[in-house]
Amino acid sequence: MTSKLQPRAAVVLEELLAGNERYADDRPTHPHQGRRTRATLTAGQHPLAAVLACSDSRVPPTLVFDQGLGDLFIVRNAGQVLSPDALASLEFAVLELDVPLIVVLAHQACGAIRAAAATFGGDDIPEGHLVQVLAPLSPAVAFASRHASDADDLDALADLAGHTHLRMTVTALRLAGPVIATRVADGRLGVVGLTYELATGITRMLGDHVRPTAAA
Ligand SMILES: [Zn+2]
Repeated sequence: MTSKLQPRAAVVLEELLAGNERYADDRPTHPHQGRRTRATLTAGQHPLAAVLACSDSRVPPTLVFDQGLGDLFIVRNAGQVLSPDALASLEFAVLELDVPLIVVLAHQACGAIRAAAATFGGDDIPEGHLVQVLAPLSPAVAFASRHASDADDLDALADLAGHTHLRMTVTALRLAGPVIATRVADGRLGVVGLTYELATGITRMLGDHVRPTAAA
């Protein structure tokens, strides 16, 4: 599956990747913060992009992309699940805030993915409402359990499930009609997937779309 980004989305993605490079290199600029920015933003918000990210405390999108106030419209839950609530919030960003890009931000060693992998095929029922987090991850875990070189290796299983979940989420989002799918189809909106590495701070692109270029 390939998705070519239109110029407006490509420029935004370049800006986010440049910010991530600054962050990973320990030279963030922490833009758009402070009293003057707060005052300016009282008139409204015009974020660059929407982000669907995991709630993990180690992966805060505004820091990871070295952005500031008003720059990112962020939807977070454990495992960056495209729940009905999450989809509705992303549709708000598209319809009301006219974002040209949605980034799905996964990360290495996700606890939600690992928990889903650990409980998959087992006899334990998750406590409380945790099943609402883990159940949507089951298709990715099922795929990974069939394709992992060693399904008994929980780390390897969770890693493959995490990549699969990201790929499935990006695909589902691109096809989420009518608001998002229509705009993806006619080029007004881009949807991309990135994976964050905990140790390096680097985000890597999901390999199913074209890197932005000047000619994109
Ligand atoms: Zn996570």
